[in-house]
Amino acid sequence: MSNNTLYQQAVDNLEFLKLNDMIEYLDDTVEYVNANHLSFIEGIVRLTNYQRDRKQKNMEQSMVRTAGFPHLKEIKDFDFSFQPSINEEQIRNFLTMRFVEKHENIVFIGPSGTGKTHLSTSIGIAAAKNRYTTHFVKCSTLMEQLRRARLENRLEAKLKTLVRYKVLIIDEIGYLPIDKEDAQMFFQLIDRRYECKSTIFTTNIAFNNWDEVFKDPILANAILDRILHHAHVVQINGKSYRMKDYYDDE
Ligand code: ADP
Ligand code: MG
Repeated sequence: MSNNTLYQQAVDNLEFLKLNDMIEYLDDTVEYVNANHLSFIEGIVRLTNYQRDRKQKNMEQSMVRTAGFPHLKEIKDFDFSFQPSINEEQIRNFLTMRFVEKHENIVFIGPSGTGKTHLSTSIGIAAAKNRYTTHFVKCSTLMEQLRRARLENRLEAKLKTLVRYKVLIIDEIGYLPIDKEDAQMFFQLIDRRYECKSTIFTTNIAFNNWDEVFKDPILANAILDRILHHAHVVQINGKSYRMKDYYDDE
């Protein structure tokens, strides 16, 4: 067979296998291998790396897409100098995903606009890119979903789905009060994830006021107990970033 026919055969094979990036980089790789007198194996590694990188990126993107983040803000978009009460090193440590491996929780607590949703989303995006199943949900939406599931007799299935996520982000606990029946469902979720999965919480309510959120001091205590047993608490005391243009420069 002539070189041309062989080349066409290689392209046909790659096309059939849907390895389009390898087709795209075939000429470059052949040229590179010849110019540098590389071995066949070195060439194959170089060529398959292109396809592998693409697959990795696609997988990351689809994990991020399905997680339900409110936006795609990452740590690089966060201005730590604006919020000096936050320990940057602690936040960057979360990106190593050790807390996920150790089934630890993270709680962001602080007033509105101080970056709680931004930071929890950033950590969630990093988790999704590391291919941990990740899900972001607002607390009010979560409660609505649990209530509907109970009405439709599929609470157990819904809880199972929620327990399966390696990283679950529950945003805005305490913006709306949660009645006793709802608090019991919330407790079930927290109890089942306790010590086997990581959950990230954001709240503007101090822990000693959680019995006002859950309307039941005993349940509130049981919930807090499980959340805080293995948790990193990030207390933010600072100004709202949303209002930053209204502050005087000191
Ligand atoms: P919270 O959830 O605490 O109410 P958000 O995380 O929603 O606050 O932050 C409000 C807005 O300000 C968002 O658009 C967020 O991206 C931005 N923001 C907050 N803090 C910072 C910061 N330190 N650097 C950059 N952007 C920030
Ligand atoms: Mg928020």
